[in-house]
Amino acid sequence: MSYDFDFFVIGGGSGGVRAARIAAGHGARVAVAEERFWGGTCVNVGCVPKKMMVQAAEYGAWAEEAPAFGWEITKGAYDLAKFAAVRDAEVARLSGIYGRLLEGAGCTRFDARATLVGAHEIQVGAQRVTAARILIATGGRATKLDIPGAELGLISDDLFTLPAMPRRVAVLGAGYIALEFACILRGLGAEVDLFYRAALPLRGFDEDIRVAMVEALAAQGIRLRAETMPDRLDRTGQGIALRQGGASLAEVDAVFFCTGRVPNTRGLGLEAAGVALAANGAVTVDDDHCTSVPHIFAVGDAIDRVNLTPMATAAGHALADTLFGNRPRRVSYENVPTAVFTSPPIGTVGLTEEQAAVRGPVDVYVTRFTPMRHTISKREGRKTLMKLVVCQRSQKVLGAHMLGEDAGEIMQGVGIAIVAGATKQDFDRTIGIHPSAAEEFVTLRTRTREAGIAKAAE
Ligand code: NDP
Repeated sequence: MSYDFDFFVIGGGSGGVRAARIAAGHGARVAVAEERFWGGTCVNVGCVPKKMMVQAAEYGAWAEEAPAFGWEITKGAYDLAKFAAVRDAEVARLSGIYGRLLEGAGCTRFDARATLVGAHEIQVGAQRVTAARILIATGGRATKLDIPGAELGLISDDLFTLPAMPRRVAVLGAGYIALEFACILRGLGAEVDLFYRAALPLRGFDEDIRVAMVEALAAQGIRLRAETMPDRLDRTGQGIALRQGGASLAEVDAVFFCTGRVPNTRGLGLEAAGVALAANGAVTVDDDHCTSVPHIFAVGDAIDRVNLTPMATAAGHALADTLFGNRPRRVSYENVPTAVFTSPPIGTVGLTEEQAAVRGPVDVYVTRFTPMRHTISKREGRKTLMKLVVCQRSQKVLGAHMLGEDAGEIMQGVGIAIVAGATKQDFDRTIGIHPSAAEEFVTLRTRTREAGIAKAAE
């Protein structure tokens, strides 16, 4: 049977666009459908505008610190609307590039919602088309808690359409988005209360980092409301009241739900096509990103595995090479470096001490120091923490973690070493770059502690 396309990609975000372009480069006839915006969450309401807002917030801190370095600077008020115009123009430029890249690669673009209506048949806008293979790359979306008054709250997308800075903000949750948003909003001048249900933020991160993050957040004036979560929101004369068990927790001007995202897979016709989904809607795939239907594939946040843009693009690329390039390969979901763009940021790759210690004995190296800039600025709460988790038997570095300025930039290089299987001795024989914070990763001489011994002795 002949089809209209060899490959139909549903979703024009990071994973979908990469898979489409590479497949087209291998000679496949490719179509991509996107119903909202080209470039997806990352370019439009995620990583890209978020990073710009992190930088906007940083300028405020730099302005406050500048006098210590001799500059006669007085920090003025923050004009969100002025910055938003510049940010949005840049986002529109990048989103346009995404769309044009597809056309340049010879893909057919549909600016419409696509749904499966048969095994190989897709309804896209007003048209029906057929494809030999189909990729689900529809990403995810932010959710709100199911509590009375939730409609009064905002989701992460809404940060990028705020007309003006709210004076008082509540951020609910303590994952990537919650902490990044708390720091951005605080950095731009808002009073911020951070509500989260656990004792520490950032579940799944190394515990030393989680503890140090609490200190850093508190030092910038973010009010940490651990083990506290509103169960209703009410409109008041002055704003929005957050309540728990009838008691008032706070009154604010804006509430951000940063309590998780879910895969965007409902209403796509997947169930009718026989594609298996997990309870939260994530598409179930094997190591080759193949779903329970052999000609339907999925990558990115839609599979809810490692919800990061570079992971989606890597998976989309490998899939296109495998299906159309006669170059079968898989991507590894292990040792994925990641950063949380808080103030200061976190960079991390590999196992946490807690994860490594249940596998066997590890040597742990930790250092904490005030970076040179802040010995001058005297800004509180800016200590850097760096940590290596090393397998005691093989001396392989299993994990590296950092909270401190430039952590995201530094950890990319450390990630290469860890992916390549570097040992602690490889780190030790690497000459440091001086003076830098990064050099501490190659000068950690004294073991801080051992962990995981009890387990190994069992
Ligand atoms: P996360 O899973 O990181 O965080 C969700 C937060 O919501 C957690 O603190 C969680 O608490 C809390 N939560 C969930 N359900 C409830 C509930 N019913 N009641 C109270 N609290 C709740 O998700 P995010 O939405 O922040 O981010 C989604 C993903 O997007 C990230 O995991 C990451 O992969 C990616 N991302 C990456 C960024 C980056 O690379 N810098 C930036 C932003 C997002 P608990 O821990 O107790 O479950």
